[in-house]
Amino acid sequence: MQGLEREIQYVKGVGEARAKLLNKLDIFTLEDLITYYPRDYEDRSKPKLIASLQDGEEALIEATVVSKMTEARIRRNMAIYKLVVRDESGTCVLTWFNQSYLKGRFAVGEKYKFYGKVSVKYGKVEMNSPVYDSEKTNKNTGKIIPLYPLTYGLAQTTIRQVMENGIKLAKEENLIEESLPDYIRDKYKLESMKEAIPKVHFPADFNEYEKARYTLAFEELLTMQLALISLKNKYTNEEKGIAFSKDVKMSEVINTLPFKLTRAQLKVLEEIDNDMESEKSMNRLLQGDVGSGKTVVAMIAAYKAVKCGYQCAIMAPTAILASQHLESFEGILKEFGIRCELLIGSVTKKKKEEMLERLKNGEIDILIGTHALLEENVVFKNLGLVVTDEQHRFGVRQRGVITSKGKNPDVLVMTATPIPRTLALILYGDLDISIIDELPPNRKVIETYAVTKNMEQRVNNFVKKQIDEGRQVYVVCPLVEETEEINAKAVTELAEEYKTKIFPEYRVEFLHGKMRPKEKDAIMQEFKNGNIDILVSTTVIEVGVNVPNASIMIVENAERFGLAQLHQLRGRVGRGEYQSYCILKYNSNSDVVRERMKIMQSTNDGFIVAQKDLELRGSGEFFGTRQHGIPEFKVANLFEDMRILKGVQVLAMQIEAEDPKLELEKNKPLKKLIDKKFMNRIEI
Ligand code: ADP
Ligand code: MG
Repeated sequence: MQGLEREIQYVKGVGEARAKLLNKLDIFTLEDLITYYPRDYEDRSKPKLIASLQDGEEALIEATVVSKMTEARIRRNMAIYKLVVRDESGTCVLTWFNQSYLKGRFAVGEKYKFYGKVSVKYGKVEMNSPVYDSEKTNKNTGKIIPLYPLTYGLAQTTIRQVMENGIKLAKEENLIEESLPDYIRDKYKLESMKEAIPKVHFPADFNEYEKARYTLAFEELLTMQLALISLKNKYTNEEKGIAFSKDVKMSEVINTLPFKLTRAQLKVLEEIDNDMESEKSMNRLLQGDVGSGKTVVAMIAAYKAVKCGYQCAIMAPTAILASQHLESFEGILKEFGIRCELLIGSVTKKKKEEMLERLKNGEIDILIGTHALLEENVVFKNLGLVVTDEQHRFGVRQRGVITSKGKNPDVLVMTATPIPRTLALILYGDLDISIIDELPPNRKVIETYAVTKNMEQRVNNFVKKQIDEGRQVYVVCPLVEETEEINAKAVTELAEEYKTKIFPEYRVEFLHGKMRPKEKDAIMQEFKNGNIDILVSTTVIEVGVNVPNASIMIVENAERFGLAQLHQLRGRVGRGEYQSYCILKYNSNSDVVRERMKIMQSTNDGFIVAQKDLELRGSGEFFGTRQHGIPEFKVANLFEDMRILKGVQVLAMQIEAEDPKLELEKNKPLKKLIDKKFMNRIEI
């Protein structure tokens, strides 16, 4: 392969071993390399006076060598080299370990630049293992140095060198293409990609960096907006959808519910009803905090579709959730003669064949299931409504697969991921949005406590008391990112400790992603039936399960979770009549962690939590995680770049109005970019 698609191994400075390391960072091609942007920068461009140095900072000094380097052997394998230097303000001692090659590098009376970590003890200034340059060179100093996210075995200096080579190559062969049309670049004062990409890696100063970054962020956000708009058009511009009959009233089922719907639920149902009766296909996102009652809304929509003569597909991310939905649907809809079935991976072949036959003949009204619904042999007679629950688990393509099983069916996408409204409107540009912003009445506020290690005993006593009163407890294990295996191990070990040491008199079980679906379902069922007191698990229980008797959620190492995720976990309790508690065990002295714990303690409102999370962490982390299903940005930050985002949104709408399919000559580069970047990858 040539050009930007050249494999990374063929970039100067990269051999087989380094290629493997770079692959770990998702760098496979030259293009991946040059768009692997720094996470931070070190300013090694402005020297400081020795007298002004602070303990702990990293700094650049320009100083003259005062005396010859000394060598001291402290052990057989350990030698310390010291060099005393001086500038007009003071003296500094430089220290290196085991770097004998430095001997003779520095001439007494010559001036050098040194950059390193400063220590100031009792007025004595030292610098440890500094990098250096002579007065004339600028190899390690004299500039702004990019710092990249790394992987074990790869050093900053290495990747920096490889990056320099990669950028040089891309420049020499003129490989960087212009993705934004000139008319946009002129209007918004953007740089060319040819300028911006190299400058973001190796800026001469921070002003230059800001300008280059602005261009890259603008491009990223514009591409996303246009991609979302084109997705929306794809769904809505095609043939007409189904106009469900106005004669079937949602109130027929609403009147049989054991509770009164909230005002918010009713408002959302009206929006859905209007969509369903219109002949435009519905593409609606239903957002609502955990426990706000989305399922019943979906059920009422399904009722309408079925009574109008259509079938429904309800897709959930896990078998546990799907079975739970079946239960709730049957509970209400059976008396109307509506036939529901469950299709999950564990259904036997024979039963499945029989089920699929009935589905094809129209003898099943509502098919509830997991990814299993996507299989080719799942054929509906006349699919009219598709509901996907907890949509961030499904990609757009999967949504496409399921909708293609009907003729422009209406689509309702449900999510409990609280995204602040301002962002939701922008991010879900391809869907109309309904929000349930109210919880059913009489919900008890979940009391949240953030505790440190020294509270352990009190927590355990409290847990015992609750179990003795008949309640059940969730314990969620710290996230260990690396692999499912490691996560599984953490869960089993913690469960073992609970079982043998802390709570030997109670029934403790565990659940993790490595277990087979059947095992998981069995454990979850036992927990629901009240036969397990304490369930230790990974975040597999994060979405949607409903066990009203569970009253405590303990999160171990809560500092490792995002706030939005903690909020999701908290939503697993407080689903019944009992006062419920969320205990966040944390182990950190950081102010940010304490601040985050404080937020969790101070509010039960998922939208506030999400907003604060964004403010504290920036969207990089908030949205960086796959679980939100929002494309990852390499440069843009949805919180910090809100202003750019708003501008971009206006521009995207102008472009769409003028040239919805991006067919005009001037928009060709945009079309190319979007096709390349998004069409196969976007996950909404
Ligand atoms: P989520 O939005 O998290 O999916 P669910 O639909 O699971 O929430 O609802 C949580 C619980 O609240 C369910 O047991 C459901 O039956 C109940 N519920 C839903 N709406 C109401 C309401 N208006 N009044 C009382 N309880 C309700
Ligand atoms: Mg739900």
